[in-house]
Amino acid sequence: SMRPSAFCGSRNMTAKANYAVQPVVVRANRSQRRRCCIVISAYAQRAEYIWADGLEGSPAKGTVFNEMRSKTKVIQQPITTFEPKDFPDWSFDGSSTGQAEGNNSDCILNPVAVYPDPIRGGDDVLIVCDVLNPDGTPHDTNTRAQLVELLTPDVVAEQPLYGFEQEYTMLNKSGQVYGWPNGGFPFPQGPFYCGVGSESVYGRPLAEAHMDACIKAGLIISGINAEVMPGQWEFQIGPVGPTEVGDQVMAARWLLHRLGENFGIVSTFAPKPVKGDWNGTGAHTNFSTESMRNEGGMKAILEAIERLSKTHPEHISQYGTGNEERLTGKHETCDMNTFRYGVADRGSSIRIPLPVQLKGYGYLEDRRPAANVDPYTVARLLIKTILK
Ligand code: ADP
Ligand code: MN
Ligand code: MN
Ligand code: MN
Ligand code: MN
Repeated sequence: SMRPSAFCGSRNMTAKANYAVQPVVVRANRSQRRRCCIVISAYAQRAEYIWADGLEGSPAKGTVFNEMRSKTKVIQQPITTFEPKDFPDWSFDGSSTGQAEGNNSDCILNPVAVYPDPIRGGDDVLIVCDVLNPDGTPHDTNTRAQLVELLTPDVVAEQPLYGFEQEYTMLNKSGQVYGWPNGGFPFPQGPFYCGVGSESVYGRPLAEAHMDACIKAGLIISGINAEVMPGQWEFQIGPVGPTEVGDQVMAARWLLHRLGENFGIVSTFAPKPVKGDWNGTGAHTNFSTESMRNEGGMKAILEAIERLSKTHPEHISQYGTGNEERLTGKHETCDMNTFRYGVADRGSSIRIPLPVQLKGYGYLEDRRPAANVDPYTVARLLIKTILK
């Protein structure tokens, strides 16, 4: 009798040892028995195609709704690669995501970054995609393509690096800040930033699970901390290059929302989730070039700040929806209509961190972006102003 033999690699099969092979008996007639095999793709794998929608500016924005979308493609063969080009393009209904009209609704998902899927595990993957029109040109919402256009050899030679501080606020399902007293307020701000203890820290299990998932996905996450408003958190991605920071922030945001489903916690990037004397939610973006990171780099840092002072309105107009509620000049911000820089100054637009000032080289921090900013757009604007 024949038993199924898993992993039999026959000469006729191109697969490595990953297809299961099921021997079957074929009876041609009573006297003749033939052995043959059918191939079962027992090792089909899942690829989660992730993209950002086009609902910016719609009524959904500025509320609890996030911009991430994804759907699963089952791939009927083993996944043995992290090369985006090895994965097929896919399409989706752009009329349901604010990216197309109903009568011509297909948009194309083009894989740009592949990471191990830390939730499903195994060889499953997360694929960050950018969105193309059916003719292969970048969709209007494809801010990544606009960034890539600026990555000319002179820019690449300066090796721009970014550290993106993604703040977010946890909410419960009824839209109240997670852990806050029902219908009321916690103790005023003060004891919560980088706090520890049940009395001051709300939602750590999600923040920890998210950091763990980012590490397992191979993202360059550099840390997490509880923020000034209780229920508010931060994780940092970087230092990494321009497309990497965007792709990794997209993957990290998706993981945060996806894990939130398990915890019953909604994470919002709204810039001012609670009105009044409560900190807003930002995405400070730390930036450096090779010239800034070398001995004497302060000169390049100050030149960059001089350039940034001249394009302030252009940056502000693209640094997130509802940012005017956050950039008031209070709560560690500089008011939106003022451009100011300073060493260790958290009330400035651009901060030079104290250690950078002491060493005389390093990086600058753009404190203006709101938490809901498009990371590809911040990356592009910093290059456009500083390196073009
Ligand atoms: P803050 O003191 O403002 O809270 P964080 O420690 O939260 O700063 O974030 C600083 C970020 O800057 C980190 O992601 C870090 O990896 C990144 N970073 C460090 N050095 C550089 C550099 N030379 N260029 C760009 N980013 C950097
Ligand atoms: Mn359908
Ligand atoms: Mn920080
Ligand atoms: Mn912060
Ligand atoms: Mn910061």
